[in-house]
Amino acid sequence: MTRTIAVVGSGFAAWGAVRALAWDDDLCIHIFDVGLTGATSDWAHRTVHNAKKCDGSFYSYGINDPDFPTQLESQRLCSSHALGGHSNVYSGAMLYPKNHDLCDWPQASWPRVEDYTAVLSSLAVLHEPDSLDAVFPVIPEAATVGETPRSGTVSVVGLSRIATSRSAVDSAQDAAIRPFSLRDEFERWVSAGAVQYTGGCYVTRVTSREGRVELSYTVGGVPGAATFDAVFLGAGCVNTTAIVDRSLNQSGTRHYSIQSPLLAMHAFFRFPGRANPAVQIRRRNDVPELFLELRSPGTGDSWSHTQLTAINEQIVEAICARVPRLLHPLVRQSRHLVYFALSLQASHGHELARLQSTVESDGTRQKVSIEELPCGPVPQLVRDVRRAVLRHWRTLRMLPIPYSGRLVDFFRGNRLGGWHFGGTLPMREQPSLPTECWPTGEIQGLAGVYVLDSSAFPSIPASTAALLTMANGHRVASCWKSRLVPEDC
Ligand SMILES: Cc1cc2nc3c(=O)[nH]c(=O)nc-3n(C[C@H](O)[C@H](O)[C@H](O)COP(=O)(O)OP(=O)(O)OC[C@H]3O[C@@H](n4cnc5c(N)ncnc54)[C@H](O)[C@@H]3O)c2cc1C
Repeated sequence: MTRTIAVVGSGFAAWGAVRALAWDDDLCIHIFDVGLTGATSDWAHRTVHNAKKCDGSFYSYGINDPDFPTQLESQRLCSSHALGGHSNVYSGAMLYPKNHDLCDWPQASWPRVEDYTAVLSSLAVLHEPDSLDAVFPVIPEAATVGETPRSGTVSVVGLSRIATSRSAVDSAQDAAIRPFSLRDEFERWVSAGAVQYTGGCYVTRVTSREGRVELSYTVGGVPGAATFDAVFLGAGCVNTTAIVDRSLNQSGTRHYSIQSPLLAMHAFFRFPGRANPAVQIRRRNDVPELFLELRSPGTGDSWSHTQLTAINEQIVEAICARVPRLLHPLVRQSRHLVYFALSLQASHGHELARLQSTVESDGTRQKVSIEELPCGPVPQLVRDVRRAVLRHWRTLRMLPIPYSGRLVDFFRGNRLGGWHFGGTLPMREQPSLPTECWPTGEIQGLAGVYVLDSSAFPSIPASTAALLTMANGHRVASCWKSRLVPEDC
């Protein structure tokens, strides 16, 4: 018996799910996606300093096309990684969390080693066999993700792990590397007939009815609907929450808490030294250069994640725009002497922002706004990272720059700093609200509807978000497939 399933979105979460489901003759997969391939005329085309610029694809982050029945009031939190579109701003940095970093996730919801393996073996990861490998091998084993944390302080440093397009890394020695492209992957599946793809399609609602799920959408302002055996939502945290809220409620206003890791941005002075080819590739391509992983009582005994990166071309331009012309040569010369550190620490239950969704009384229009909450400094994290950097003096040769946090704040446009958020529709052992998910990803109030993206994460660990999102998408979809009754398949 052939099952028909819908996947909403063509981002990282959707990629993980399609990776688990494609090429199965008993499944008919249909992707519904906004499919933006460029900024629309009413959008600001802005640079994002801590992102990788690729093919000039910098747009503001809000799906706010007047053709769509949802109005999103946020310029930043709603990253759109549509096929051929915004996914290219992703800088490709990736590292998985250990299971104890997901201590407030139900155990059954932890991505399995086979999920990480399936995802990582499909990517070409730029990495080096250095000391990071001893604690975080590129492809993890059960003992790696399931390690028992010991108390005390442990830190490990190594060159960054960057997901790239496979063809690019093969000839990477001095060529430009291209971050892993979702566009290439989805286009391959579509052209091979493994999936059907409808772009320019805005999903508005899902309705569960007698074991089937109806998906409502608009294409070019024209409403449409189709029915499926299961629907997988991977529209990104804010968009997925908007769809679920609208599906569960005819009208009125609701609030959802958005969670994020604690974040600190600071800077170091690095004494010049010879850069080996592996470092040069990262520098030439403006991707994060070093990863520093640190676990200490100050980080709550979870692994914190720090990316150390020389000032990239976008930041040089941003600084030059703010200082007198006279200083521009100095700024350019100091490019490889000043390193920015972006440090993240898992914060179980830390509320970064609040999402408010209002559906109008006739049920046609929805307004989603994001209230960003004050986010205080994280002095303990900064102190611990600085100490760790000094401990790794022989590798790093870096000294902390005093008051650099204020300096970074002055130059960066993105106040929140990071792009890792979720937690609006959390997975629970035993969900108590219609908007909570089972460990399978199924939404309590919407039978047959599964959340793939970070909205279902009970907390957001410090490790990079895209890999965890892909692995979760893979887990939710492959576990769904394994539960199908064999004779029905
Ligand atoms: C500038 C930038 C740099 C980043 N760098 C990194 C990094 O180096 N490492 C890392 O791990 N993470 C990084 N991230 C974070 C990472 O990109 C996100 O965690 C990831 O994109 C989330 O994936 P997702 O599939 O949940 O959502 P998205 O990638 O946002 O995909 C959502 C998809 O859903 C579609 N969609 C949305 N709403 C609808 C709707 N109503 N109907 C139909 N389709 C819809 C969109 O078109 C899109 O295809 C970065 C993010 C940004 C913005």
